Amino acid sequence: MANSSPKSNTGDINADIVIVGAGLFGGLMAWYLRTHLPNKSVVLIDSGPVVDRVEAVKRFKESPEKGGNSAYKTVPWAPIPPEDDPAAYYDQKDHDSKNPLEQIGFGALYMRTVGGTSWHFTGHAERMYPNDFRMQSAYGRGLDWPISYKTLEPYFAQVEEAWGVAGNNSCVAPTPHPYPLPVVPLTYLDHQVNKAAEALNDSLGPLPHCRNSVPYDGRPQCCGNASCRFICPVGAKYDGSVHVEKAQGLGAVLYANSVVEKINVGADKKVASLQFKNYTDPAHPVTGTATAKLFILAAHAIEIPRLLLMSKGKNTPKGVANSSDQVGRNLMSMVGINSSGYVPEPVYPFRGPVNATGVFRELRDGAFRKDYASIGTIVINGGFNPTNGPLNEADDAVDDNLFGTELRARVFNKTASQVYLDNSVEMLPNSENRITLSDEIEGETGLPRPKIDIRIDDYTLDGTYVSWKRTQDILVQMKAIFNGVPIATPTRAAFDDLVAKQGVQAGAAMIAGTTRMGTDPKTSVVNEWCQSHDHDNLFIAGTGCYVTAGSVSPSLTAAAIGLRASEYIATNFKKITG
Ligand SMILES: Cc1cc2nc3c(=O)[nH]c(=O)nc-3n(C[C@H](O)[C@H](O)[C@H](O)COP(=O)(O)OP(=O)(O)OC[C@H]3O[C@@H](n4cnc5c(N)ncnc54)[C@H](O)[C@@H]3O)c2cc1C
Ligand code: SF4
Repeated sequence: MANSSPKSNTGDINADIVIVGAGLFGGLMAWYLRTHLPNKSVVLIDSGPVVDRVEAVKRFKESPEKGGNSAYKTVPWAPIPPEDDPAAYYDQKDHDSKNPLEQIGFGALYMRTVGGTSWHFTGHAERMYPNDFRMQSAYGRGLDWPISYKTLEPYFAQVEEAWGVAGNNSCVAPTPHPYPLPVVPLTYLDHQVNKAAEALNDSLGPLPHCRNSVPYDGRPQCCGNASCRFICPVGAKYDGSVHVEKAQGLGAVLYANSVVEKINVGADKKVASLQFKNYTDPAHPVTGTATAKLFILAAHAIEIPRLLLMSKGKNTPKGVANSSDQVGRNLMSMVGINSSGYVPEPVYPFRGPVNATGVFRELRDGAFRKDYASIGTIVINGGFNPTNGPLNEADDAVDDNLFGTELRARVFNKTASQVYLDNSVEMLPNSENRITLSDEIEGETGLPRPKIDIRIDDYTLDGTYVSWKRTQDILVQMKAIFNGVPIATPTRAAFDDLVAKQGVQAGAAMIAGTTRMGTDPKTSVVNEWCQSHDHDNLFIAGTGCYVTAGSVSPSLTAAAIGLRASEYIATNFKKITG
């Protein structure tokens, strides 16, 4: 198993290539570049600390509150949205409307530790669908990308091998193909949900995962303890630290606890340097400068536009890479209303990975996308709260004055009968959905907080209804109850009522679109190689480059785009850096 303790460094930096962000894509690109440009030095700068997996598991076990971030050291210089109230992290005044067509709360999560948000991620590793790249041509919605599924096909395969993706031809995926690893087996719960779906002439299929169904790449086989959402204790689930360490093994140098605060651009329009603050000694942070021939930003789709917008200077009056005023715009996420209920017979969640099955096959892509959004649904194998586990039932039982055998029986029976179906619905690009800089300043760093404006449209709301109806129908079929009453047959009126009461929140695994790709520098930030239209030696990696987002989990496609950009950099390094 990977040791998850890459060594960190301090001091000023001078390298051929500097990558900001040692997360999921930064690590992969560093590994590729060290492999294909062995004579060029590569430095990774990351705002967060290095995670030691063993310590992290211990921290989680010892934490009285079992939250999604309980395994990780939170450091004040790299603040993140808290799991229990992510929307509170962002500056989004007046965004508490319950009407989804008005400004709504944005609750997307991310992490700032070496390895990035992938420490948290569920591990779905699907390719986006061919039509996700041509939404305008296929369905008259959104925009077409400058690249196609076909362009990315070889890079998808490279990522699947690098991450160790498990799957087979029964998986819900755009093309049947051999995967490096056999499919992750379905759980008993998955089978019970599938039975109900089939009785309704519906079907859910397994998803491809970057989770070791057999030992792979020096990491062990998944042992099925369902803690994937907050940390995989054994490293069976792929995460970004794997390629950060591989890159280090090939000579890349890591600077952890180093927050990049400003990008400096010269009169020649090339990026000249970065300014960062190193918090290795938190009481005495040290300002440093990083110079390089080529820079890659891989700090995720909120922090990248934030950094670009913070980097106003003589040669970049609107911020870096922002001559088009497109930086931060077209923010896309996924929305959804989930379905949960207690079923009469135990279905035993928490055995196996946090998720193996998902997705109504025909709701990913099809002619319906002219009318409503694409839908992803997953069967959560972690009860109503995959992190907290049975503790919520224990709290309720204690509140009801149960103890001893009665308490144990109540916690077991209720936990074992929880079914939770999670819906994620596509959003289309809208230039008014955006991240800008807040007037509010973060305490420790003195930097402006991210300000979010976001609303959904009828296209997404109608997709949200279709997804919710499908998952409620399954629960009705399973004779589930919630709040002590049988779940009722879902109707549009009941959905509208629910939305009026609780609203719809944007925010899940998908944060995309904020530095989008395109051929026209007036309407996009980077070209098809992730190269800034404004600054030749600046590349911007990650889901920020998405033109449309679909409903597929975001990362595999962005990783494929990152490898394609890395290949372009490796082939053209001399030409680019002149
Ligand atoms: C709960 C959850 C579940 C998810 N599940 C899935 C899934 O199943 N499948 C999937 O495809 N995707 C999933 N995702 C999304 C996935 O985690 C992200 O798409 C992916 O991690 C983004 O990679 P990245 O490299 O752009 O950013 P990250 O992995 O977040 O890495 C960015 C790095 O940049 C660093 N950084 C940030 N700001 C600065 C700065 N100013 N200076 C220096 N460094 C900086 C951070 O410390 C971090 O290490 C999930 C996300 C969440 C929150
Ligand atoms: S089920 Fe356990 S071992 Fe398997 S990937 Fe999830 S956390 Fe890791």
